[in-house]
Amino acid sequence: MVEFGFKLSPSSRINLDLRDKASFSKLVEIEPDALKCMACGSCTASCSAGIFEETSLRSALLGLQNGDKEKALKLLSHCMFCGKCTMVCPRGINTRHLILSINKIYQVR
Ligand code: SF4
Ligand code: SF4
Repeated sequence: MVEFGFKLSPSSRINLDLRDKASFSKLVEIEPDALKCMACGSCTASCSAGIFEETSLRSALLGLQNGDKEKALKLLSHCMFCGKCTMVCPRGINTRHLILSINKIYQVR
């Protein structure tokens, strides 16, 4: 039987006890727009890669603020840099550039 509908994701709210300010500040230094995100989820809802693999800039940013770099990188690992999320972001964030910076800063080489 084909399954329809939506699944509820676990909460991604920022946990102030886990908040990793130092690590997130590294991103904000080169991408101040990271602070503009209001976690609306438009980028995630319109993501081209999201049809095939779990991809979410919204959750990645929340993950980074919680100090979870691995989760953030995993959620962006299938990004194709198509730029669709940049077009829909209500805060005018250059999300594609932001994703590139996240990969650059946090990627373990
Ligand atoms: S640039 Fe990446 S995150 Fe944004 S819509 Fe395209 S695939 Fe999704
Ligand atoms: S669309 Fe923009 S403001 Fe909304 S969650 Fe994505 S990056 Fe944040």
